[in-house]
Amino acid sequence: MLLGYGQRSGFPAEIVLEICLLVTPIDLLKLYYTCRYFKTFLGQRPWVWRRARQRFLPPIPDPVLPPDPTANWSEVAYISLIFGGGKCSICHVPVQTLPNSFAMKERRCKRLACITRWK
Ligand SMILES: [Zn+2]
Repeated sequence: MLLGYGQRSGFPAEIVLEICLLVTPIDLLKLYYTCRYFKTFLGQRPWVWRRARQRFLPPIPDPVLPPDPTANWSEVAYISLIFGGGKCSICHVPVQTLPNSFAMKERRCKRLACITRWK
């Protein structure tokens, strides 16, 4: 049994789950990185992420996966790729923009030199 935030705060895990089903994937990602309890709680429930993707406007489609995806792929990794931010592939400055290429996992900052450069 998973003990943690639910018991300490007085909220049953079912109530925490109901709240998680109503928030956006961005909120889930922030909650996921909040503490170990939520990392475990949300990491064990990929269907919560899937539902959040489907409820998002516009809905975030299912990823195109190879027939045998690597063990590193997960719903959390997919949402983190989209909304988690990262570094510009050219100048390595932290950016919060959406990836320019999901296949290449590439982001670009808004500097003209980075946008126009072919990598
Ligand atoms: Zn850049």
